[in-house]
Amino acid sequence: MNSILAGLPTTVFEVMSRLARETGAVNLGQGFPDDPGPADVRARAAEAVVHGWNQYPPMLGLPELRRAVADHYRAHQGLTLDAEGEVMITSGATEAIAGALFALIEPGDEVVLFEPMYDAYLPLVRRAGGVPRFVTLQPPHWRLSEEALVHAFSPKTKVVLFNNPLNPSAVVYPREDLELLARFCIAHDAIALCDEVWEHVVFDDRAHVPLIGLPGMRERTVKIGSAGKIFSLTGWKVGFVCAAPAILKVLAKAHQFLTFTTPPNLQAAVAYGLGKEEAYFRTMRAGFERSRDRFADGLRRLGFTVLPSEGTYFLNVDIAPLGETDDVAFCRRLVERHGVAAIPVSAFYAEGAVKTVVRFCFAKTDATLDRALERLEAVA
Ligand code: GLN
Repeated sequence: MNSILAGLPTTVFEVMSRLARETGAVNLGQGFPDDPGPADVRARAAEAVVHGWNQYPPMLGLPELRRAVADHYRAHQGLTLDAEGEVMITSGATEAIAGALFALIEPGDEVVLFEPMYDAYLPLVRRAGGVPRFVTLQPPHWRLSEEALVHAFSPKTKVVLFNNPLNPSAVVYPREDLELLARFCIAHDAIALCDEVWEHVVFDDRAHVPLIGLPGMRERTVKIGSAGKIFSLTGWKVGFVCAAPAILKVLAKAHQFLTFTTPPNLQAAVAYGLGKEEAYFRTMRAGFERSRDRFADGLRRLGFTVLPSEGTYFLNVDIAPLGETDDVAFCRRLVERHGVAAIPVSAFYAEGAVKTVVRFCFAKTDATLDRALERLEAVA
């Protein structure tokens, strides 16, 4: 069929998960946790289905969830958001990103993307008529530089699509890098779409800094969050969008014709979950941090070069010291011969790909991680 979508590759997550199923491999590729998510939040969703309301909820989201999102960000990130005019609920962060791109871009507008980038970004930017301009980030620190931003921004820059903490490279950007980015957004009058779905999954006492909270960014940032990542309920697809009223109004126009709304029972359960005490979030982070350390120590013992993982539930290994030059071939061998699925990080680049970094998801039980480590022993 003659369509630009027909030419798209199948997403790497689907390819690797299918290979993992076919080969019976331990799946550390696609990022989803073994943990089933908090029992009380799941029970709320079930109760809401049985006793609640199962018809279309309001287009912008259940009022109780919109209020819970605003309260949550006030408590955890010091933001002041008006639940009525500045918060909308979407069917996952991906819908929020797609809707924002469709709503904000006119064909020919430039969109600054940071590679490695989540694999949905580029096809969506292109389909919206945007012209991608890339900032290529390099391991092991993946930091922003003024030089790279000068290169990517132009008078045609309309939108900047930034992911912090960054999947797949597991960096949590410090305030200094965000200030640099904010300076460029302001100077070019660009809107920042900030995908912050990993905001709660940050380690070693790091604090997530929301871009929308920086001076001059309040009126030009779309903050995107997700219950899937906050509560280890990745299949729920409940996303949140926060933006100044003038932007939110435009985004709502796209949302009404994309999904219109999001299952009300899931919204009710997430509203309850967002009200949990700080201790819940601390314990969740500590659990992931412990898994990260267990897996990273195991990999190092086997001789792998492990890159820092400051947030997200991913960690990367540099395969260059093993004499490897092709992460895709390496991952194929890993799943087919050794029974472990991982993600080649080159899949997250459009240009200037780094080809020697491989991503593992460590949000798994100790038994799963240990089984993967046993299988990886023959590799390093
Ligand atoms: N966010 C998940 C990851 O990075 C994958 C989501 C998906 O499969 N599309 O692994």
